[in-house]
Amino acid sequence: MRPIKKILIANRGEIALRVMRTAREMGIVTVAVFSEADRHALHVRYADEAVCIGPAASSESYLRGDKIIEVCQRLGVDAIHPGYGFLSENAPFARMVQEAGLIFIGPSPESIEVMGSKLAAKQAAAQYNIPMVPGTPDAITDRAEAKQIASQIGYPILIKASAGGGGKGMRVVESEAEFDEQMDRAVSEAVSSFGDGSVFIEKYVTSPKHIEIQVLGDQHGNIIHLFERECSIQRRHQKVIEEAPSPVLSPEKREAMGRCAVDVARSCGYYGAGTVEFIVDEKLDFYFLEMNTRLQVEHPVTEQITGVDLVKQMIYIAEGQELAIRQDDLAIKGHAVEVRVYAEDPANGFLPDVGTLQTYVRPQGNGVRVDDGFEQGMEIPIYYDPMIAKLITYGHDRTEAIEKMVRAIDEYQITGVQTTLPFCRFVLNHEAFRTGEFDTHFVSKYFTPEVLEPATDPAAAELAALLTARLLTDKGPAPASSSEPVATPAVKSNWKVNRQNWR
Ligand code: ADP
Repeated sequence: MRPIKKILIANRGEIALRVMRTAREMGIVTVAVFSEADRHALHVRYADEAVCIGPAASSESYLRGDKIIEVCQRLGVDAIHPGYGFLSENAPFARMVQEAGLIFIGPSPESIEVMGSKLAAKQAAAQYNIPMVPGTPDAITDRAEAKQIASQIGYPILIKASAGGGGKGMRVVESEAEFDEQMDRAVSEAVSSFGDGSVFIEKYVTSPKHIEIQVLGDQHGNIIHLFERECSIQRRHQKVIEEAPSPVLSPEKREAMGRCAVDVARSCGYYGAGTVEFIVDEKLDFYFLEMNTRLQVEHPVTEQITGVDLVKQMIYIAEGQELAIRQDDLAIKGHAVEVRVYAEDPANGFLPDVGTLQTYVRPQGNGVRVDDGFEQGMEIPIYYDPMIAKLITYGHDRTEAIEKMVRAIDEYQITGVQTTLPFCRFVLNHEAFRTGEFDTHFVSKYFTPEVLEPATDPAAAELAALLTARLLTDKGPAPASSSEPVATPAVKSNWKVNRQNWR
C-alpha cells in the first residue's frame, strides 16, 4: 500500500477538472500542467499548483512525458493521472513513470502494450474463448492470401490498422474489385497516423451496435464489471451520444457480455479502470472489438447508474488497495444519457468550428451533470480536441433521462461557435432512437443538415441574456500567468471569474 497524497494530472480541459474534483474530495493535493495556449484554462485555476510545460503544440507540452515527470519530482508528486488521450495509453510513458518511482494511475505498461495492438489483444483474448468477428488472426503480409480469406469471409469486409484508434485507419471494402485500392489506402493511413503499417481484415458487420463494458480490476487479481454503455450514435466512427444501460440487452445477455469483458481483462492481467468494446449484430450476437486501457470520455453514464466514482476507484487501485466492491454489490439504478458537446458544425460535415465562446451558459437542475473545461469568453484552442463539454442527464428510466436531456440541451446557451447540440437534439427526438432501434449508421441513414432546427425556447433565451449580463459585471481572481509553480485558488463559484482577461 502506497498512499497517494499529491496527484499531477497530465491532461487538460474537462477531464483534468473531473479528476481534480475527485482528488479534492479525497483530500489529495492536485497539480495541473498546461501549455502556453491554456494559461488561463479552468483546470489551471482549479488545481492547487500549476506548471507551464511548453508551447501550444501537444508534442511540445502535453505529450512531453519527460517534462511532466520532472515536474513531479520537483513538486513532490506521488502519482500521475493521465486522463484520456495524450499519454494515457502510452506504455513507454507508464514505464518511465514507474521507473521514476512514481505511481501511474492506470494499468501496467504490459497491459497497455498488449491491448494497444488490436491483433495482440485478440490473440490474448483468444485463450478465453471470447467471440470474435471472423477475420485474419495476424497482420497481412501476403495480399493474394488475404484476398482469398476475404472472399471466404464474404464481402463487405473491413481493413483495420492494428495500431488504430479514434476511428482512423479503417476501410470498408464492398467487393474484391476494390480490394487492392482500399488496402493501399489503409496501409498508408496506418503508417502516417500510427507509424505502423500492420493491417488485418474483419468481417464488416452491416447493422452493428457498439456496446462496451466498463471493468475495474485491482492489483490482487479481482476484476468486476460495471455493466454496459451503448455508444452506437457515431460520426466518423467516433461516439457523440452514449447511454447506460443499453435499451436492447436482456439481463442474460448483459451477464454474458460482462463475463466476457472480465475474461478479456484477465487475459492481460489487467488492473485499473478499462473498457472492453463489443460489436453487436442484429441478432444481438456480440463480438470482441478491442479494449481501451484508460478512463473513457463516456464514463459518467456508468457512474450515474451504479453510484460508483470511477476515478476514486482508480486511485484506490493505484495505491494497491483491494477492490471494496464485489460484483454482487452492483445493480443498475435508473438510466443515464451523455451527449458530447463538440465545437463542430453538424451542418457542414461535423467540421471543427473553433473560436470564442461568446455566450456560454450551462444547463442546470435535477438530474443534470455538466463536465466541461470552459467559461464564457474563453477561446476553444485549435491545437486540441474540440470537445467543449459532456452533458449528462440521469432519470429513473430511459424516457425520463431523454426528456431531461432535451430540456438541458434547450437550456444550454452557446454562441460564437457551432456545436453538436442541435444534432444531438435531433437524435434524441428521433423515433429510431426513442425505440432503441438504431445502429452505428444512424447518421448516414437519418441525418441531413436540413433536419436541424434551432432551439426556440424564448424563456431560456431570456434567462441566458439575464445570466450573461450578470456574468459580465462580476469580478474575480486573475488567472495564473507565471511559468513557475503557482498556488491557484479553488474555483468556488463559476460566476466569480474575470472574463475580461480572457478576451
Ligand atoms: P477505434 O480503435 O479506431 O475506435 P474500433 O475497433 O473501436 O476502432 O471501432 C470503432 C467503430 O468502428 C465501432 O464502434 C464501429 O462503429 C465500427 N466498426 C469497427 N469494427 C467493425 C466491424 N467489424 N463491422 C462494422 N463496424 C465496425
